[in-house]
Amino acid sequence: MARFGLCDTCAHAKLNANTRGSVFLFCKLSREDKAFAKYPPVPVLKCPGFKPSDR
Ligand code: SF4
Repeated sequence: MARFGLCDTCAHAKLNANTRGSVFLFCKLSREDKAFAKYPPVPVLKCPGFKPSDR
């Protein structure tokens, strides 16, 4: 199910859920590169940090 655009298949993506069951897309690349938002506005359609996931 595509919900977050490119992030759906990116190795840097991590899904975080809150206690109400909402799911947020956290970008792990933001930890090492401040150019990337922790919680990017989704869907992400273009991203220079995109790295295809093995999933
Ligand atoms: S690097 Fe880009 S495509 Fe990958 S999770 Fe972060 S914002 Fe999404």
